[in-house]
Amino acid sequence: MRTTDLRVRRAIRAVAEGRPVVVTADTEREGAGYLVFAADAATPNILAFTVRHTSGLVRVALPLSECARLDLPPMCSADPDGSHAAAQRVAVDAGGNGTGISATDRARTIAALASEHAQPGDFRRPGHVIPVQANADGVLGSPGAVEAAVDLARLSGRRQAAGLCEIVSRNHPATIACGTEPVEFALEHGLATVSIGELVAYRRRTERQVVRLAETVLPTGCGTHRVIGFRDVHGGAEHLVLVIGSVGSGEPVPLHVHVECLTGDVFGSTVCHCGAELDSAVATMSAQGGGVIVYLRPPGSLRACGLPRPDHSPSPDLLSDTVAWILRDLGVYSLRLADDAPGYGLVMFGALRQNRTAA
Ligand SMILES: [Zn+2]
Repeated sequence: MRTTDLRVRRAIRAVAEGRPVVVTADTEREGAGYLVFAADAATPNILAFTVRHTSGLVRVALPLSECARLDLPPMCSADPDGSHAAAQRVAVDAGGNGTGISATDRARTIAALASEHAQPGDFRRPGHVIPVQANADGVLGSPGAVEAAVDLARLSGRRQAAGLCEIVSRNHPATIACGTEPVEFALEHGLATVSIGELVAYRRRTERQVVRLAETVLPTGCGTHRVIGFRDVHGGAEHLVLVIGSVGSGEPVPLHVHVECLTGDVFGSTVCHCGAELDSAVATMSAQGGGVIVYLRPPGSLRACGLPRPDHSPSPDLLSDTVAWILRDLGVYSLRLADDAPGYGLVMFGALRQNRTAA
């Protein structure tokens, strides 16, 4: 198993056992490191520790359904600058005698937000704990700390609710921890550490990423072949697989991975070799009597070599995970790489090794 997967599993186990973990961000858009714990495991001790070492502005990440069920309206109604401001809900306190600000009171509020028995009337508004709505697809929908917190709670088998707060720099207490400080903090306190990127990769490898759609036969200039449609579970992009001959018998199958290129594939543009490579792969595999062509249509805007691209290209890692799940669905575990897309060979070997381990 990969070292990064071990780190993810260690963090999941810690959350399952009610211990806080450190989640590090891959970009420093928000903060570099967060203390994260399952909301249903919140105790006065965990909150006292959190308040001591973090900014103290503790949030609780929740799915949309729980925000709706507990009547937690957005603090503001729009995201004028794409800051996800509308995800922040009106702050609450669990009803009781305290003011709501002490570690004990906040632990009670956080645990209440995670309780399936909680009712909207159990909370005072405004309060001292900020609920925040997580993307429905977790880190696969939006790779942020809020989503990582909910994902860890869900993967650990606890309620989908997690407390999180930015860790403060020990060397410069007036600032948020940065660089290696969050990891040093975790080491010092014996806490598991996981990065958001590691969680994304772990989920993409361990959770099915495509669903099979329609299947039919397609007559082509090189013979009649099976075509199978697939859709990404997250994001909804659709891909097409051309199966030439039979696959799944255990024999190594020639594979060509093709990323959609409208100008090359449809208009025969000579700016790139995409169209020529695709035609050649279909012709060669048809002549040899077997092979799989995976035609990927990444999410986002149209892909076409030679035209200005408003979007970033999808990463080879992301696409290779998609290909690995498609091949797993087809029962293909042994390949001959007929693919010559730049940078793909090694990535695909890695993905296939994962495939074989998981099979
Ligand atoms: Zn092209």
